[in-house]
Amino acid sequence: MALIVQKYGGTSVGSVERIQAVADRVSKTIQIGNSVVVVVSAMGKTTDGLVKLAHDISKNPNRREMDMLLSTGEQVTIALLSMALQEIGQPAISMTGAQVGIVTEAHHSRARILHIETQRLKKHLNAGKVVVVAGFQGISSTEDLEITTLGRGGSDTSAVALAAALKADVCEIYTDVPGILTTDPRIVPEAQLMTEITSDEMLELASLGAKVLHPRAVEIARNYGVPLVVRSSWTDQPGTYVTSPQGRERELVNLELARPVDAIEFDLDQGKVSLLRIPDRPGVAARLFNEIADQDVDVDLIIQSIHEGNSNDIAFTVNMPILNRAEAVASAIAPALRNHVDADEAEVLVEKNTAKVSIAGAGMIGRPGVAAKMFQTLADAGVNIQMISTSEVKVSCVVDAEDCDRSISALCNAFEINSSHTAIVNTSPETPGVRGVALDMNQARLAIRQVADKPGMAAKLFGLLAEKNISIDMIIQSQRCRLVNGEARRDIAFTVAKIDAVNAQEKLTQVAREMGWGEVILDNDIAKVSIVGSGMVGHPGIAAKMFTALAAEKINIQMIATSEIKVSCVVSQNEGVKALQVIHAAFELAGNEKFVVPA
Ligand code: ASP
Ligand code: MG
Repeated sequence: MALIVQKYGGTSVGSVERIQAVADRVSKTIQIGNSVVVVVSAMGKTTDGLVKLAHDISKNPNRREMDMLLSTGEQVTIALLSMALQEIGQPAISMTGAQVGIVTEAHHSRARILHIETQRLKKHLNAGKVVVVAGFQGISSTEDLEITTLGRGGSDTSAVALAAALKADVCEIYTDVPGILTTDPRIVPEAQLMTEITSDEMLELASLGAKVLHPRAVEIARNYGVPLVVRSSWTDQPGTYVTSPQGRERELVNLELARPVDAIEFDLDQGKVSLLRIPDRPGVAARLFNEIADQDVDVDLIIQSIHEGNSNDIAFTVNMPILNRAEAVASAIAPALRNHVDADEAEVLVEKNTAKVSIAGAGMIGRPGVAAKMFQTLADAGVNIQMISTSEVKVSCVVDAEDCDRSISALCNAFEINSSHTAIVNTSPETPGVRGVALDMNQARLAIRQVADKPGMAAKLFGLLAEKNISIDMIIQSQRCRLVNGEARRDIAFTVAKIDAVNAQEKLTQVAREMGWGEVILDNDIAKVSIVGSGMVGHPGIAAKMFTALAAEKINIQMIATSEIKVSCVVSQNEGVKALQVIHAAFELAGNEKFVVPA
């Protein structure tokens, strides 16, 4: 007999008929011999309606009262669903978050779950009842009983946390789409359903705007190894499985505060190739990386950023044994890429002894302090960072090989990790190189000119933004270096959420002035397109294919940043949709049928 946690979202319980349909599904699951805990959202758009009511009364409603109000939505659903179950002869009982004992931080409106008491739940399950639990809510402590909510969309998180606490066999998330799609079907109607995705890939896609799953729910699933399925409540289709590594046993305390970093990784045997002053026009990156892929050179990280004078720098890292081949390709192609605008010629720089050190773990999303802490730790160890790569589950820094050991021990210390290991990539040959494509139109780009090239600068910049809780993405330091007053300077560019951009620009302008750096430039007119897939590692040519698709449409790439499982390009905002479409097509992710987006 399996223990199953089923979660039904707002549209799945949007009407009496839908609630009855859910009751039927639950009862069928019981009849084939399972125990079921159901977690529900508020009916339809109830929560939005409650938010509106509050704002009709107050511009800035008291947060405690807001939680009191919003938690009522789920309470309606649990009672109705229990009645519907009882009506068809299935014993059931509804429970609020407080009744279960879902204990959260004492933060109203965005509390994280600390732990879940399971005795009461188990007692009812053992008595043969379905327990219907209100999602999205908890209590600050079993003494205070202050009602808290987890943040919008939080009932996914409730469900996965309950599954972790109960060590359930599976957590099924029922929604109004058939599962996780290769891209946004409103932009690409031929988007296809995935049968499977890893939790790391899902975290990337979720934070790039795929709304099907709350990223915090995926973090818990990954950390506790909870098997997760996303499927439609309207059909019996199998949906999409979200797979997680068989994690170590973790204690079921501080569920959502669990260490954001659970591993320190390194790759000692790397070299870096940079091409300086290559022309800023469509097709250049495609040409370069196609040549490289033709030589079967597997590149690891790639960065590209635009600079003054309409030219770009591109840099990439490869494993040492193929560095010579990579250099040969770059040198052969550089003259052909001569920039006619600039008098200067393209130049190839090779750095032989570099290493990549990374922090890895689920729990960095929305916590910019984690990356900032890594940069600060390296700065304190006197390590200069040459390249930075960020993803939702990993931050990597390329450093001098001779700094590698020092970096690792400092990081192990700072993040309280006992041992480090070389990055392990174990993807089976069937793992598709690219699982999904995402478009993020809500990012802006900031560039700071002429930042001193010495340890501590990234720590300073991103520490400052972390203090303001501003998350950064796609950090790129220029490869080109210039001397200002005898000091080496580089440009640093990165993307942030649009809503944070002006704030970030102000803060950075202030430091830039104090430190004597250059101006801080903001560009809101960008779009970020990304491909995600853990099978990219060890498959040369994937980035090249993405760049080629963009080049064929004459879309200029303004910025490139990669992680092990993601390649992101910044293009101009008005080319974003086209970019997504051509990339999705290039990787043959489209199906034959058009996906009908539920109204
Ligand atoms: N009802 C809450 C919301 O609309 C929680 C959820 O549905 O996940 O945000
Ligand atoms: Mg939801």
